Amino acid sequence: MTIGILKEPNDKRVSLVPSTLKKFKVENVEFWIQEGAGSQASYLDAKYEKYGKVTDREDVLKNADILVTINPIPAEELSKVKKGALLVAVFSPFQNENLITRIKELGLQAASLDMIPRTTIAQTMDILSSMASIAGYRAVLLAATELPGFFPMMITAAGSIKPCKVLVLGAGVAGLQAVATARRLGAIVEAFDVRAAAKEEVESLGAKFVEVPGAIDKRDAGGYAVEQTPEFMARQQEEVQLRAASSDVVITTAQILGKKAPILLTKETVERMKPGSIVIDLAASSGGNCELSQDKKTIVHKGVKIIGNSHLPSDMPRDASYFFSNNAANYLKLIIKDGKLNLDLNNQIIEKTLVTRD
Ligand code: NAD
Repeated sequence: MTIGILKEPNDKRVSLVPSTLKKFKVENVEFWIQEGAGSQASYLDAKYEKYGKVTDREDVLKNADILVTINPIPAEELSKVKKGALLVAVFSPFQNENLITRIKELGLQAASLDMIPRTTIAQTMDILSSMASIAGYRAVLLAATELPGFFPMMITAAGSIKPCKVLVLGAGVAGLQAVATARRLGAIVEAFDVRAAAKEEVESLGAKFVEVPGAIDKRDAGGYAVEQTPEFMARQQEEVQLRAASSDVVITTAQILGKKAPILLTKETVERMKPGSIVIDLAASSGGNCELSQDKKTIVHKGVKIIGNSHLPSDMPRDASYFFSNNAANYLKLIIKDGKLNLDLNNQIIEKTLVTRD
């Protein structure tokens, strides 16, 4: 069985790194790697050559039984893929219905790693958590470089500066990492989430949890948040406005699985923020938490810089690839048995991730 690794278009990461291939001791499995696949993430061909065959893209597409990528293979290349092959990637199937339909029409199989259930047993394959953690960390570093001031308190002979105030909206994996990183840099941090469980986590990191009563918090939603009532959203926006007006940095991470991201920061709120403040919207690719966010763009509105970026893990490609690779390898070990593909639908993880079959 051949597992193919491709160079990611518009992304510096690579799906599987050489150290994973070295450890991946499954009989009858060989790796074919596109030339330069890992070069932007500091994983060079010379390393890959020790554990597999480095060849051109067409060769990998044509011969792989399983193709592992981070982003889906571009639709125009799907016809080059071996019939019946399994594509493993982050398909975001709720946002990419046309692509999934195309894959189905071509008789290919697709497993979407973002559909892995958020359960303890699936934790070692949870690419959403590993990438979110990097995004939260990077968002704070980005904010710190974009802010026209300090994060920590400074007392100097030239004057004193108060610590900066950071507001984090959505205290899931990315949000908590943002809270921890901003605290380490000396900021005063407040965070907000609709899940009650987030309160303790936020407080344990030394930040203040902002409470808005009346949130719907469903424990059976797999750890995810659910859509809130319009009344709650209005109250929440008011509370956010109050906090954002005195913050220097707002990092937004709120998502609802399969739905558009909730608007937490309205245009009016941005207009109440101090000039020079920074908004980093990590939910930009699913519609954004800020009304003014534009995906993959930075705009300035009345002196407030709004950075819409859901792709921050690509800016830390070495370690992001390492995490992704470990997660993906654990998934591969689950679906390969005796050197053959074994898509056992009785396994909850396989059943949830398989978005097309036969
Ligand atoms: P996510 O990326 O889907 O959402 C980010 C955060 O936004 C979540 O905390 C969510 O509650 C919050 N949010 C949604 N709507 C909001 C609103 N209107 N206002 C404020 N906040 C809002 O979530 P995630 O970070 O991927 O994961 C969320 C939770 O899932 C985790 O904190 C954890 O409880 C659970 N989880 C469990 C496992 C596991 O058991 N293996 C792994 C990962 C996550």
